[in-house]
Amino acid sequence: MRRINLDTFRIARRGTSREINRQIALNLVRAKQPISRADLARLMGLRRGAVSLLVNELLGSGLVFEGAKGESKRGRKPMHLHIETRRRCALAVDISASRTSILVTDLLGQPLLDVVEFPTERRPEALVKELVRNVGRIRREHPEYGEWVGIGVVVSGMVDVESGRFKYSPTLGWRDVDLREPLQAATKLPVVIENSVKACMLAQVWALGADVPGDGPVAFVNVSDGVGVGIAIDGKLLRGLHSIAGEFGHVPLNMDGPRCSCGQSGCWEAYASKRATVARYLGTDPSWPASAGPCEVTIEDVIARARAGEGRALDALRETGFYLGRGLATIVKAVDPRRIYLGGEITAAWDLVEPTVRQALRELALIAEAGETEIFPVPLGEHPRLRGAAALVSTPAFAAPIVA
Ligand SMILES: [Zn+2]
Repeated sequence: MRRINLDTFRIARRGTSREINRQIALNLVRAKQPISRADLARLMGLRRGAVSLLVNELLGSGLVFEGAKGESKRGRKPMHLHIETRRRCALAVDISASRTSILVTDLLGQPLLDVVEFPTERRPEALVKELVRNVGRIRREHPEYGEWVGIGVVVSGMVDVESGRFKYSPTLGWRDVDLREPLQAATKLPVVIENSVKACMLAQVWALGADVPGDGPVAFVNVSDGVGVGIAIDGKLLRGLHSIAGEFGHVPLNMDGPRCSCGQSGCWEAYASKRATVARYLGTDPSWPASAGPCEVTIEDVIARARAGEGRALDALRETGFYLGRGLATIVKAVDPRRIYLGGEITAAWDLVEPTVRQALRELALIAEAGETEIFPVPLGEHPRLRGAAALVSTPAFAAPIVA
């Protein structure tokens, strides 16, 4: 049940029911393609004629095309509906503290080119210049991709989605920076900017496959230099009043713990980030900023040494698993998600850390069923941040209409 907002309600017009049904049809094509008009009518519980009206509108919008599927032995080939991915594409940009990556995808988020990478310029003006140069080169080299629908940009830090400004990015050292306006002006393309973990969550919400939870709360936890969390409820990202909803990484596990990048002490991030794991392994100071400096040992080294049988490395990872589980228990108690997606370097060691993650979660989750909340690692090789950036551009056309 949802209350009608009497300040922002939208009156049903003559075309409202058609608009709703058209989006349902579009999403069914997206999920089930290739699909015949007859099957679409059956799934929607509508007559063929009513479905044809909706399909004709979708064909007219260019979002869908109708083509033959496979070979038929004789007679006319059956026609099927597909999402139009052939002449439209999205540019996905991931800005992290060390590297900036660009990926071109179609409007279902499927990569069309290899990832392009360059070191992140620390001055925003210089970064925009480098981005514009690379985007321009990619567009010149690939006229065959047709229409460039827009650029999705993700960054670690807090973003005001309305204004497109970075409010605060501790890892980049940016406060109140506008990348959207100069990027739009230089490329003449629409630009959407979002926090990287919220975008990762969005990409999972819109992932294609039978196994994607359709409703209820879901969470994405990214464990890297920091610990970021994105929450979606019934397919909608949770932002909160100031876009800081879900910042579980800065909820303290222990108020006397190591100093965190946010200035508080004992945050979940200060125990579970890859910096904390490496510091624990080396026996060095885990607090910020001591643990953020250059270090000759990486989390990948710790994982490799644990796999080679080094007890100290395995202990450091297992302890991270324990803290990871404690923080996940906080998320479980706050939103009781159907599934928690886990991203970041630690996913490469999931088999090593899972037992202690589970143990901590079971101890703290209040009820036995919640202790068994599904945890779903998303490997780095799947580029979850770039897929999130692409989703910023590719998914709005499929969104549910706002009614009442
Ligand atoms: Zn913190």
